Amino acid sequence: MQTTVQSTIRFAGIGLHTGAPVNMSICPAPADHGIVFERTDIRLGNRRIPALYDRAEQSPLCTLIVNDAGVSVSTIEHVMAALVGCGVHNALVQIDGPEVPVLDGSAAPFVRGILSVGVKRLTAPIRVIEVLSTVEVHTSQGWARLAPGPGLTMDFHIDFADRAIGRQSKSLDLANGTFVRELCDSRTFCRAADVEAMRAAGKALGGTMENAVVVDGDAVLSPGGLRHSDEAVRHKMLDALGDLALAGAPILGHYEGHKAGHTLTNMLLRELFATPDGYRVRDCDIALAARLPGAGVEAHEIPAVA
Ligand SMILES: [Zn+2]
Repeated sequence: MQTTVQSTIRFAGIGLHTGAPVNMSICPAPADHGIVFERTDIRLGNRRIPALYDRAEQSPLCTLIVNDAGVSVSTIEHVMAALVGCGVHNALVQIDGPEVPVLDGSAAPFVRGILSVGVKRLTAPIRVIEVLSTVEVHTSQGWARLAPGPGLTMDFHIDFADRAIGRQSKSLDLANGTFVRELCDSRTFCRAADVEAMRAAGKALGGTMENAVVVDGDAVLSPGGLRHSDEAVRHKMLDALGDLALAGAPILGHYEGHKAGHTLTNMLLRELFATPDGYRVRDCDIALAARLPGAGVEAHEIPAVA
């Protein structure tokens, strides 16, 4: 059965890119509502933005969605990953500014909030998107691929010049709470060399050494160092899970990303949904539901480090 959150969960913080203070609430929603953001600071007109792939606009540093009235919300990927990773299918996310709070730079605070109230079963069946044929997209930066598979599995590869990150690869089956145990506490990261350019472009204004892992060559500049030796690739997988959630339903398939990011994962979903024989939407039976990312998640599995 589909789920929502048991009760409203509130978060307050600053936006990673805007640096502006923001309040956000994850509120219960009915079956077949999906994940929808609502800009409560906007009084007139359509202030709701469905978290769907065809609402996403090109934005290399984060995932930004926009509605028909031009109302947007950005940096949705970590809270989206937390919702899908905890098995929440429906929620109204109310926010009083244009960017989701970054909190500690990972999805762990959102996961902790969701699991503290718990999920509520609704009376409609879960529908899933089953990948039927391989789709692949490329840019000059890298590539991403979705292939058929019995549940959501993921391979991710990154390669950075800074040796503090370097080459990292990871493979995970996202069934049975893997997201909460393995991915949710991994923080966003950036290269010290890129910080000035991002700031000059009006980005990363809320970035700190605490809410992002900053690396410079061999060195991790953030105090306390890394939460995992491969925290960077784990965070890229967290982002990919959040971006895949914009499919609007759980995906059954194998995702592979090679130096992929928000743009490539969104291109991949657009390619999938433009391929008529590439997927089918089906009801989810009990055996399948037990393999979805949110099945069997428990609060005590959040890594203690976060
Ligand atoms: Zn991220």
